[in-house]
Amino acid sequence: MSNLQAKEQLNNTQTKTEKCSGCGANMKFNPELQKLYCEHCESTKEFEQKVNFHEYSLHEVIGNDYFYNREEAVVFNCSNCGAKIVLNEDQSSIVCPFCGTSHVQKTEELAGIKPTAIQPFLFGIKKAVEYAKNWAKKRFFAPRAFKSTLSPNNVKGVYTPAFTFDSETSSSYYGRIGKRHTRTVGSGKNKRTETYIVWRTISGNFNMNFDDVLITAGTKFDQSKLNKISPYDTNSGKVFTEQYMLGFMGYHYDRDIDSCWDEAKIVIDSNIKRGILRQYNYDVVDYINISTTHENVKYKYVLLPVYVGNFPFKKKVYNFYVNGATGKTHGKTPISFWKVFFTVLFGLAVLGGIAYLIYMGNIS
Ligand SMILES: [Zn+2]
Ligand SMILES: [Zn+2]
Repeated sequence: MSNLQAKEQLNNTQTKTEKCSGCGANMKFNPELQKLYCEHCESTKEFEQKVNFHEYSLHEVIGNDYFYNREEAVVFNCSNCGAKIVLNEDQSSIVCPFCGTSHVQKTEELAGIKPTAIQPFLFGIKKAVEYAKNWAKKRFFAPRAFKSTLSPNNVKGVYTPAFTFDSETSSSYYGRIGKRHTRTVGSGKNKRTETYIVWRTISGNFNMNFDDVLITAGTKFDQSKLNKISPYDTNSGKVFTEQYMLGFMGYHYDRDIDSCWDEAKIVIDSNIKRGILRQYNYDVVDYINISTTHENVKYKYVLLPVYVGNFPFKKKVYNFYVNGATGKTHGKTPISFWKVFFTVLFGLAVLGGIAYLIYMGNIS
């Protein structure tokens, strides 16, 4: 399908919502029930949930654009922070989950390729705020205002895009590693121990299989953030259908599969290197050259549940992230100047006290 055709189709389609059969309100996906739920009359509705998703081979996609678009979704752009948000409803006013502003406008952009799999949220926003509060409590230098004002208004459920890659790798390698030894040299007054390194060259073949190397496809929610709130059990996801999105936001991917695969290869390479070196007893690596071939590379495009929190404090916005399946939380908090100030002051007072005692001890 050409871009133009896709665009025409976009203009002709309605966004995908599910109306409550009881009262006509829009139903939302409820993480606790894992069903659609009407907040007005409390009726629920099941939808088909499949678990056997297909993993695609990599040459099925790289250089190809036959993947069909999600026609029911609308893409919004935040002019404040650049985030692109995907919604199933054509809402007139939305708040950006990343920067908390409402400088968010509807665009004509396409929602892009349809995800292969989705990991549904497993708990609702109230629970997410609890997880965030527990995390904030342990942030000693965070200002009290941060800990006390965290509320559901600061937190949005956002499905964030990622790719998983499988690969069967075979590598050949050669290199030089060394082991430290000590010996005693000299005699009499000059007797001393010195350290020396015994080098050896290594070479061989090494095979390693990778399953679901998880790489973020969104620059705002980057790899280090994803790693901090991982793991995600990506093999237990569901086949994507739009119903899971109802009542939630999506974060539009802004990295393509080629660059994600490049990043996956970096992750894979460092694991291979560790795997090779683990076979040896060594203290230092002089060099190691590894050349790797990938076979049977499979990927899937998954949506991960992340509660994105934003907290504006003194003209800056601080983001934190809650894993929507496990509750694991990570983020930045503002730092209270006074907490740091008094801690340093207290530390200096203790040091001063010790110095005074030593001084008094010395003159008496
Ligand atoms: Zn209803
Ligand atoms: Zn924004």
